[in-house]
Amino acid sequence: MDPLKIFIHLNEETGEIAKELKKTWSKNYEAFDRVKLAAELADVQVCICALANQFDIDIESAVEEKFIKADGKRKWKTAIEKKGDSHELLS
Ligand SMILES: [Mg+2]
Repeated sequence: MDPLKIFIHLNEETGEIAKELKKTWSKNYEAFDRVKLAAELADVQVCICALANQFDIDIESAVEEKFIKADGKRKWKTAIEKKGDSHELLS
């Protein structure tokens, strides 16, 4: 598939995440749906993997290289550890 088309799909799916997250604060929207958010996050991840595959990039290795090896001294917080820092949706 054309990488540019994959990129357009990726941005469309990112917008769907935004639409779902907007429900957490907009009173004019239906209720936030965590299951739907998970599905949209999965859509984005699949698009990222598809885009990486088009360029023969091992995305798992790329993430490891950037976030673990290159920045190994940084202490990453998990979503649960961050719960107190941000909002209740991570519970
Ligand atoms: Mg979607």
